[in-house]
Amino acid sequence: MQPNNVFQQPVSERAASFAQHLLQWYDRSGRKNLPWQRDRDPYKILVSEIMLQQTQVTTVIPYFERFIDRFPSIAALAKADSDAVLHLWTGLGYYARARNLHRAAKQICDRHSGEFPADPEAVYQLSGVGRSTAHAVLTFAFNQSLPILDGNVKRVLTRQHRIHGWPGNKKVEQELWRLAESCTPEERTADYNQAIMDLGALVCLRRRPVCAACPVAATCQARRHGEQHALPSRAPAKVKPVRAVQMIMVLDKHKVLLEKRPPRGVWGGLWSLPEVDGETEPDQHMYMRYGLRVETAGRWKVLRHSFTHFHLEITPIPAALRHSDNQVMENTGLVWYNLKNPDARGLAAPVKKLLEKLR
Ligand code: SF4
Repeated sequence: MQPNNVFQQPVSERAASFAQHLLQWYDRSGRKNLPWQRDRDPYKILVSEIMLQQTQVTTVIPYFERFIDRFPSIAALAKADSDAVLHLWTGLGYYARARNLHRAAKQICDRHSGEFPADPEAVYQLSGVGRSTAHAVLTFAFNQSLPILDGNVKRVLTRQHRIHGWPGNKKVEQELWRLAESCTPEERTADYNQAIMDLGALVCLRRRPVCAACPVAATCQARRHGEQHALPSRAPAKVKPVRAVQMIMVLDKHKVLLEKRPPRGVWGGLWSLPEVDGETEPDQHMYMRYGLRVETAGRWKVLRHSFTHFHLEITPIPAALRHSDNQVMENTGLVWYNLKNPDARGLAAPVKKLLEKLR
């Protein structure tokens, strides 16, 4: 005899009913016309998946379209100059994603003759591609039957199964992978994966889950215990340190001096303003480091930019160029950036803001 209460059903039956309800909802209300869903091209799906990490669909769409317009294939991206790639990422943040994507395109060209690999082991080896991203590409492009576990899926599963503990914790994550595997159906996997992501993005919202409209409300343990808002558990609170820098905006008529940052670390490979700690005099720094005599003119209001691990407080210092001892050459990682006729360069978001203000 069938138990009346869904919570008393065997796990496999609950998983099957969960997938079935989700798929029925997806057929009625899921997202089927996103720009990366049109032709099931693994390259476009990879670009979208990387952009969607930490960023919402509506923000991603225009970035995705510009990116694909400029780099329509893996080969085009592999051949691209890193400045052109970072330029199209400017404003999306988390620039390591762009650098890794660029590297992954080169790896596909070197290791797989430019053909996107369909073997999970080969996809896991690509730069910046984790297990969930790899599985998303393999299910959406090649119709393989693999589970995914992005932020939206974590939220849905955490609530459905009332999992306590921060999902960033290794043990909790392993438990979520186990649940993702047991819930993912063998058939219609791509639709199911899209459905569970859509449910997290459209119904099972982080702050205000719309449980009344949820197709899997009947099996939701968090709802049953009134804990929807408490799950997923938050990351242990950490006080982020604050770092202070001065950014020097050296102006020579309508040009401003930019410096390329080292390839690794914060804003790696992006163009930024010369910076100095809060203790050193900006004009002295510009002479000692670059051989430029500058005259500073006060300071602008402090800008705060938050990273995952710290806050950066930027004091912008406008300065006029008075005399240059040496030539500032592009190949030394410095450039005079034309504010009236700006070229395509990857710029960190606060630097872009400051340049717009200068313009
Ligand atoms: S019932 Fe509410 S909390 Fe549970 S999965 Fe649905 S939307 Fe999320």
